[in-house]
Amino acid sequence: MNKNSSNIMALAPNTSNKRETVCIFGTGDFGRALGHKIIQSGYPVVFGSRSTQTSSLIPKDAEVLSHAEAAQKAAIIIIAIQRQHYNFLTSLAEILHGKVLVDVSNNLKINQYPESNAEYLAQLVPGAKVVKAFNTVSAWALQSGTLDASQQVFVCGDDMEAKQMVMDIVRALGLTPLDRGSLLAAREIENYPLQLFPMWKFPILLTLGLTTFFFFYCLTRDVIYPYVYENKDFSFFIAISIPNRICPILALILLALVYLPGVLAAIIQLYRGTKYHRFPDWLDKWMLCRKQLGLVALAFASLHVLYTLVIPIRSFVRWRISNQIISQALNNKTQPLNNTNAWLSDSYLALGILGFFLFVLLGITSLPSVSNNVNWREFRFVQSKLGYLTLILCTAHTLVYGGNRFLSPSSYRWYLPNAYMLSLIVPCIVLVVKFVLIFPCLDKPLTQIRQGWERNPQYSE
Ligand code: NAP
Repeated sequence: MNKNSSNIMALAPNTSNKRETVCIFGTGDFGRALGHKIIQSGYPVVFGSRSTQTSSLIPKDAEVLSHAEAAQKAAIIIIAIQRQHYNFLTSLAEILHGKVLVDVSNNLKINQYPESNAEYLAQLVPGAKVVKAFNTVSAWALQSGTLDASQQVFVCGDDMEAKQMVMDIVRALGLTPLDRGSLLAAREIENYPLQLFPMWKFPILLTLGLTTFFFFYCLTRDVIYPYVYENKDFSFFIAISIPNRICPILALILLALVYLPGVLAAIIQLYRGTKYHRFPDWLDKWMLCRKQLGLVALAFASLHVLYTLVIPIRSFVRWRISNQIISQALNNKTQPLNNTNAWLSDSYLALGILGFFLFVLLGITSLPSVSNNVNWREFRFVQSKLGYLTLILCTAHTLVYGGNRFLSPSSYRWYLPNAYMLSLIVPCIVLVVKFVLIFPCLDKPLTQIRQGWERNPQYSE
């Protein structure tokens, strides 16, 4: 089913369930915010509370009763109470028998308890049908109206009918229910709000590691070496020159690391002769954060563009150019135009501009609003074919930057090559392996394997 049709479903709630009263236990922040939204959607709401006194904070169309009285008025009861206070529900077990209990709770830590809160609730009230839902929606978002139909509400539970009733309420609120299966999934759903940028951890740590390494590498070559051997103070390189070396290096390495797991996966599949065997965990995790790696790479490429734009106004650069002009004037000698250098310089810039343009295009197509509007083939074309073209252009940009100094022994300082040479290692490996994989003798079996063909069926066990 495509996205549009699911949105249409989200806008068309099951009206047969619309008039049934919904009970909410707990008049705290979440209970009140959810109650307000449910009333707006046309459901009568009754609150079950320890105190039956209403306050101005409670939606005025809602009744506030004791837990037992409120529970008797509805088939669905949303438990908007912290897990540690669930114990009192055992005394209501008889009244709650056969009712749908919606567990909305979250914890403070990942895997805080041996079982999920929803499973704990099901143990406390065995006669009830427990459904997990709404825990990824915040009270603030409900109150401020910042929720839209694209907001997904994860729902899970063992009773299909109960789950359906809850999903009808979710749709009535203008949200999109996402059925995650049985109540066993509650543990995972409860961990979602506690995850801190899970997909960004590896890219950020890797970026920090690489940035630190290349910073000290460039500092040694470009600042410490001239100071020790020529007594020249180039410490101001730390402001622009060194960052402008690190940014393109990181952009290129990280872009190559977006494509490296793909070629590793291809080699593994060719070796095993099947796709029905899981990749090692580290490769799975690496593949899942390719988009984030690509976005960090794009950020570094953009910084490189900005740093490059300010080169002509740098005092050091202006000083060097005026010095060259003056020395030519004093010697009464004009340097002839070196055609090779002019070609290298223009090609280097042209490759950089084209590479950056495609880089930006890749970044734009990775945005959900764009990727949702292209089909799978178009997405693959942009991310894979254009992605490799970007990698080729950026690698060529770096190779041409080296130009005729590339691999020249005079460019080594303390046996350390220029930093850009190190940045070429991973992209060159990726491009060479990818090139080899294109040969029909490897591409054909790989395509067959990806279509389900198996050479060694024992691997799929
Ligand atoms: P809260 O403001 O602390 O409210 C919890 C309510 O539970 C209280 O107002 C109280 O209602 C009731 N309660 C407190 N102690 C009790 C006890 N000993 N026995 C029976 N009832 C008791 O918490 P909340 O922020 O509304 O969160 C409620 C639940 O929603 C939690 O499980 C939370 O994890 C979940 N949740 C919250 C949010 C959010 O943004 N706040 C988002 C998603 C999920 P009465 O005074 O009416 O009895």
